[in-house]
Amino acid sequence: MRLIIFGGTFDPPHYGHIELISSLNFSNDDKVIILPNYIPPHKSADASPEDRLNMCRLAFPDLEVSDYEIKKGGPSYTYQTLQFFQKEYFLNRDNLIYVIGADSMKDLKTWGHPRKLSRLATFLVFRRPHYNNVAQDIKEFQDLYGGNFILSDIIGQDISSTEIRVRNAFDQARDYVPEGVFEYIKQKGLYNKYRAITDKYSQFGLSQKRIDHTLSVTLTALKLAYVYGADSEKVILAALLHDIGKNLNLKRAYELGLSISYQTIELPAICRHADFGYEIAKTFFGIKDEEVLNAIKYHTTGRPGMTLLEKIIFLADYFEPTRATPGLDKIVQTARTNIDQAVELALKNTLNFLKQNNYEIAPITISAYEYYQKENKIGI
Ligand code: ATP
Repeated sequence: MRLIIFGGTFDPPHYGHIELISSLNFSNDDKVIILPNYIPPHKSADASPEDRLNMCRLAFPDLEVSDYEIKKGGPSYTYQTLQFFQKEYFLNRDNLIYVIGADSMKDLKTWGHPRKLSRLATFLVFRRPHYNNVAQDIKEFQDLYGGNFILSDIIGQDISSTEIRVRNAFDQARDYVPEGVFEYIKQKGLYNKYRAITDKYSQFGLSQKRIDHTLSVTLTALKLAYVYGADSEKVILAALLHDIGKNLNLKRAYELGLSISYQTIELPAICRHADFGYEIAKTFFGIKDEEVLNAIKYHTTGRPGMTLLEKIIFLADYFEPTRATPGLDKIVQTARTNIDQAVELALKNTLNFLKQNNYEIAPITISAYEYYQKENKIGI
């Protein structure tokens, strides 16, 4: 007998999880257990452990869903769970299989007692879009701690629980989770955190087109965050609010009581919304994190020496898929491997476009372009 354990936060469980389990070639002798954790040591969960357990039961009606970690309580350390199941079923490392995705593989060396982990189970690793170094991550782990790893050829769906929590605030989660899970989310009012932002879009006059763009920027930014290991919560906040000032003019901004600096007035009118967004995020949404605020402020003009978060929001806004700008493919490809080069290309395109159309150019965009041109040359 082999025991195959699929552990996770499942916040919520989605079709990516289900497809991954369906792709496993297990025999009648094998047993599969879905194992939602109590407190995930590496991230926070939005829904309660009980709700996540219930949703797992709805998502995997034909499989055993274990409440072992949830009943045990406290931070859920996988090595302790594996020790328990090894004893319970008289297993060894070869017949106890623990299933993980490429993102978990990337973090595995930071899990509690990695050497113990490596002796307890064989890890079956699934590839995921945006996590391209999985083979390298396995090798690094093995060099440090040894262990048995099987790298599946299958690439998991381009979908994550985080994306579903974001989509839910836009009423667009339905297609990504089984019907029962979707109804449960609705009935229990789960994943409404970001609605505190999306519910206010109409108050700031955002059109449906702008709202669609904002969702698309947020999802695009999240994918870049996965590639570069950026803080996804900050990415989401900045992306959800990046265009919140889009429909304001100076008069309306004054009416709202926003503090407007001389530098904002000096900007080309088309760029001012980003400064308004900075002020709105601070005043109306209580955002204090300067990194998030600056990602909103510089998402249109860019600036020299942007932080990773600023670059992610700047690029996602530039090439999210609902944009019909020609020539984006090269920048999208470049962004996956060299974010600074992608920023340079996007700034160059923007400047060319503004010049060709005789539009006013914000000086900070010119200095940003010169900065990245120089930095990238030095980099080479
Ligand atoms: P979050 O966005 O909150 O990080 P998640 O979508 O990664 O969530 P988890 O509950 O953390 O979901 O996932 C449990 C396990 O399933 C993890 O090992 C994860 O790597 C893997 N996994 C999740 N989604 C996919 C997917 N689309 N393809 C392959 N593996 C996946």
